[in-house]
Amino acid sequence: MSQLWQTYHLPSTVEEAVDLLTNFAGGARIIAGGTDLMIDLRFGGGHATFDALVDVTRVAEMIQITPNDGWCVVGAAATHTAVVGNRDLEHGATCLVESCGVVGGPQVRNVGTLGGNVAHALPAADGTTSLVALDAEADVAWGDGRREWLPIASLFRGPGISAVDSSRDVLVAFRFRLSGEREGSAFKRIMRPQGVALPVLGCAVWVRLDESRQRYEDARVCLSPVAATPVRADAVEAELRGQPVGEASLSAAVAAAYATLHPRTSKYRATGEYREHMMETLLRRALPLAAERARTGVASAEGVGMG
Ligand SMILES: Cc1cc2nc3c(=O)[nH]c(=O)nc-3n(C[C@H](O)[C@H](O)[C@H](O)COP(=O)(O)OP(=O)(O)OC[C@H]3O[C@@H](n4cnc5c(N)ncnc54)[C@H](O)[C@@H]3O)c2cc1C
Repeated sequence: MSQLWQTYHLPSTVEEAVDLLTNFAGGARIIAGGTDLMIDLRFGGGHATFDALVDVTRVAEMIQITPNDGWCVVGAAATHTAVVGNRDLEHGATCLVESCGVVGGPQVRNVGTLGGNVAHALPAADGTTSLVALDAEADVAWGDGRREWLPIASLFRGPGISAVDSSRDVLVAFRFRLSGEREGSAFKRIMRPQGVALPVLGCAVWVRLDESRQRYEDARVCLSPVAATPVRADAVEAELRGQPVGEASLSAAVAAAYATLHPRTSKYRATGEYREHMMETLLRRALPLAAERARTGVASAEGVGMG
């Protein structure tokens, strides 16, 4: 087999990583855990080799998880295992811990990163689904020297297509507000038991209840994949805001999902019709759980390690 890359670099700062990419003028590529990239390199058939791989897993600010004043910054090179083991995230971003906790198996979670999950830009990616429901922003160091925080949804351009060009730009971190009083989140997914890397369907929900803790004050829902990019289910969210928690609002949310979201058939995972039915199943699992967590203030991640 021909050599897949010529040189391997381990920068210790974001600036160094961007400079390396710039110097190779598109011939280098970022690698984090390598769980997607190595498969693409070996079996993808596209860009077969690189001049250099730039490994970002030694960049301190990219592996830290830093809660601060009700917010949390999660480095893009934080592994799924690191996310799952973080107590602040378990309580304040339960859906994210639940989604990272079912990615692959322990070997994949130990090296696979949240940034790799997002940079790959697949609409079904588990970590991505929860970041969208958490209304996260991404810190991007662009190859032209700019650095900015952007809404995470603005990074996705199509299946596997990101605004972040991993041969020029670096996804540095994500930030989102941690759930506070009367707020909670949950993630559920349907997965084929055989070795397929992405779920049939995933569902992340974040809710805030009103002072009475009986009604939804606000809600964010991401069902994936139901479109070419990971998207919020606006019509579902609209059915929840201001409504009492319970069967009536849940049924209205499910009806809105059926009316507005039409997942496509995947030859590896499921038919569009099956996925549509699973939207109901997942909403009926995730929504009451998120509401209960918001009502009680108690949130222990479920299903972690059951992927
Ligand atoms: C057996 C198996 C099971 C899996 N199961 C699941 C699953 O259940 N759910 C799921 O969502 N995924 C799954 N995956 C996919 C994969 O493990 C995850 O998406 C993982 O988070 C990818 O992260 P990584 O660090 O390994 O990315 P890498 O493979 O290192 O990189 C992926 C892509 O992102 C780019 N990139 C990485 N980091 C950055 C960065 N900081 N800035 C810019 N570009 C970057 C790379 O250049 C590459 O194009 C599975 C994979 C395998 C092999």
